[in-house]
Amino acid sequence: MERIACRMRVPAPRLPVWFQDHPRGFERNRYVYPVVSRRARGVSLGINLNPDKVCNFDCIYCQVDRTRGGRERFVDLPVVLQELDVLLRLVRSGQLFQHPRFASVPEQLRTLRDMAFSGDGEPTTFANFDQIIQQCIRWKQRSGVPQLKMVLITNATMFHRPQVQRGLELLDRHQGEIWAKLETGTEQYYRRVARTSIPFRGVLENITQAARVRPLVIQSLFMKIAGEPLPESELAAYCDRLQEILARGGRIRRVQVYTVARPPAESYVEPLSEEHLAHIAETIRRRCGLEVECYGSG
Ligand code: SF4
Repeated sequence: MERIACRMRVPAPRLPVWFQDHPRGFERNRYVYPVVSRRARGVSLGINLNPDKVCNFDCIYCQVDRTRGGRERFVDLPVVLQELDVLLRLVRSGQLFQHPRFASVPEQLRTLRDMAFSGDGEPTTFANFDQIIQQCIRWKQRSGVPQLKMVLITNATMFHRPQVQRGLELLDRHQGEIWAKLETGTEQYYRRVARTSIPFRGVLENITQAARVRPLVIQSLFMKIAGEPLPESELAAYCDRLQEILARGGRIRRVQVYTVARPPAESYVEPLSEEHLAHIAETIRRRCGLEVECYGSG
């Protein structure tokens, strides 16, 4: 499907600028960027392992602007570690909050909460995924933040790869949390949203197997597509998939339900209302007995 260039149909969000604005760049940094995250409840150091902007999904709601190419093709690990050093110093000294982008962040959100592997593509496609996780673990140990949480934000498509499995095991032993994307219940709707050739069944199998080893956080973005909210039949199928994961011995720590908060890839994608998100969250709680966190667009 042709990408529509206009990215402005999402109504202006009511979020403060430091929640709305999650650019992958900061000053001259190439890979590490600070974010004040609602889901982290404070400062998160994002690590962009896909500066080339290549992803194995092409989500219709993606906020990565692919109308412009990526700045870099490769990740320079020593530079990643250097940038982590600088940002840690800025957060600890409070200097980060003198920057115009973060000057109005309230006191209670000025705490460093985690480092998050995400960025402009799927982080687990990074060839030496386990090595970068290992290096970041060493970095936090020698930087005096050994307990800093490490979050992997992922579409779960690569969990079957040995180097990814080794990376997940490292995360398990070092305050890691895996946020796996699941936001559809049927192959048909999945293809409409993610626009990928990777089969839905394979993703579900990866999530199930990973959840049998450690509890996962499921992150689910729901939206209006061409004016149509999530169909009830799709919500029911989505709950069925969650129940199947649980029935096969998978553990789910919580489900994050959220909607579009920044301009999406396609102009026909719009946020769901707070009421609809609350209905989805309640349906998941009732049908699956899971803890659900809900984040609106405003
Ligand atoms: S998986 Fe993430 S980065 Fe990739 S297209 Fe979807 S939203 Fe964008």
